[in-house]
Amino acid sequence: MIGQQDNDLKIAHILNSVNTIAMVGVSKNWKRPSNFVMKYLQKCGYKIIPVNPNEAGNFILDEMCYGKLTDIPIKIDMVDVFRKSEECLSIAKEAIKIKPNVFWMQLGVTNEKAIKLVKKNGIEVIYNKCPKIEHSRIFGSLGSGGFYSKLISSKKQNLMINKKKSINSGFFVSKNLETLSVHAGTFPDTSTGARSFPIYQTTAFTFDDTDHASSLYNLQEPGNIYARLSNPTTAALEQRIASLDNGLGACCVSSGHAAQLVALYPILGPGKKVVASSKLYGGSITQFTKTFKNFGWEATLVDINNLDQVQNAVKSKNVRALFAESLANPEGNICDISSLSKIANHSNIPLIIDNTMATQALCKPGDYGANLIIYSTTKFLSGHGNAMGGAIVDMGSFDWANGREFNKLTTPDTSYHGINFYETFGNLSYINYCHACVLRDLGTTMAPFNAYLTLTGLETLKLRMQKHMFNASKVAFFLKNHQKINNVSWAGFKESTFHELAKKYFKIGFGSVFTFSVKSGYEGAKKLVENCNLLSHLANVGDTKSLIIHPASTTHRQLTSEQREAAGVGDSIIRISVGIEHHKDIIKDLNDALKII
Ligand SMILES: *Cc1c(COP(=O)(O)O)cnc(C)c1O
Repeated sequence: MIGQQDNDLKIAHILNSVNTIAMVGVSKNWKRPSNFVMKYLQKCGYKIIPVNPNEAGNFILDEMCYGKLTDIPIKIDMVDVFRKSEECLSIAKEAIKIKPNVFWMQLGVTNEKAIKLVKKNGIEVIYNKCPKIEHSRIFGSLGSGGFYSKLISSKKQNLMINKKKSINSGFFVSKNLETLSVHAGTFPDTSTGARSFPIYQTTAFTFDDTDHASSLYNLQEPGNIYARLSNPTTAALEQRIASLDNGLGACCVSSGHAAQLVALYPILGPGKKVVASSKLYGGSITQFTKTFKNFGWEATLVDINNLDQVQNAVKSKNVRALFAESLANPEGNICDISSLSKIANHSNIPLIIDNTMATQALCKPGDYGANLIIYSTTKFLSGHGNAMGGAIVDMGSFDWANGREFNKLTTPDTSYHGINFYETFGNLSYINYCHACVLRDLGTTMAPFNAYLTLTGLETLKLRMQKHMFNASKVAFFLKNHQKINNVSWAGFKESTFHELAKKYFKIGFGSVFTFSVKSGYEGAKKLVENCNLLSHLANVGDTKSLIIHPASTTHRQLTSEQREAAGVGDSIIRISVGIEHHKDIIKDLNDALKII
């Protein structure tokens, strides 16, 4: 696993304060990651001195290469080591002679004795990290990626090293959802200072020169090429969504269904399987069991609350992921994320949680071991019923190299001169792959205007969710006590099957999308829906407006009455998505309509 031993503020400070970096073990071969790193750091304004005994006296990327650290004639601020872990102690012994401020060991490289030795000599140590990745993650908000640093700021940021900032980094650190949902990912615009994040309504991005273009195409440096792969407005949204889950990075796409497709593409292949809850959102069931079949992907549906059944299903050697909804749409089934995570990770497969209905305001699945989290941002995240979208968040907690074969991430990719994504990007490989390969070739890109609407919607996520939850509780109790209503599937009731799980996993409420049934059956249900004058009769959820639908006469019309019963949407079932109007008005509208049936 990749070490997370250092906080972002410390790394930001290091990257802002060093100027000269000696890179030990840098390769002259442009296809090697070390060469990428050197090139990227040069571009950000650092002076890089290559150190490599085989190349001593030659030039690498226009810099004279030295045989060893002590041969370098200028003062070195940081030593960056691209050698095997076991070689680090001897490199550290040499490094202390030239007194750098920082001794940095690359991704996958660490050595206890070397760490102790340099620390004893008053030198800062970073290990198992890449300065290029860290730099682009922290300062590169306008580049491709959507990687989240834990830093926010009300000040403009600059990709170049900023020597003035050595006392005050210019950053602010917050872990609070309310603050992050307003600030994360949206520094003031670098060139104009605009405080509302701009909509980058453009298809393509100019190259500085052909060398810059080839670096971008080679994935040697982060940046934008063409808006099918990345766009700065979308990248800002990706950072914000990742921050709300405390994830490593995110990839935004055109819809929730696209998020499921893009999330599974790096993981599955012909003959490979996903084990999923049989109570997924209906559209997802169709996508998983019918449409994905055409790619040769298979889905095994299980009762997600029967852990023995789940355990048995994931044993099959072709299974590559376990998939469930934290709070299922529409019936409100709640899954036991911690237990599912143990089962998945024991079998070396990632746990993917669709957190659309709960949102980060109720639940952060990553806290309980989910590896990937997906959203239909169409629902509560954008929140106003005006922008389709989807997102995939990578917690960075799954080890792709040591799980069951995840070939797309861990073997050479011929569409990028044979780079191995995992070797090059470490635990950022999955999200990089989603942009660089999946969006490039499947093209399910989010429009920048939708990214902008979703960024704006997210600013009020917590406020909206609190009001949704308050109103849902009022409406659920009203319905439960009404003599024309049979059954209300809201997890807030003590007698609900899912009440205990809801209390364990959900922070500020029990969900605002649920079902209830009317005693008068199909005709009564239809009449109720048609006679609402405040609630909107439509097929969405998670809007500020209250919404209502009768699945049997609409979304599930094609099924027989028996099939509908099995799907949990019998003839008398109504789904409601409680909005943020005054709760008394929502109840009045329902009460008036109930009088007619
Ligand atoms: C709506 C929804 C989806 C699909 O999202 P779209 O944005 O409509 O494509 C997936 N999962 C859940 C839980 C949903 O509610």
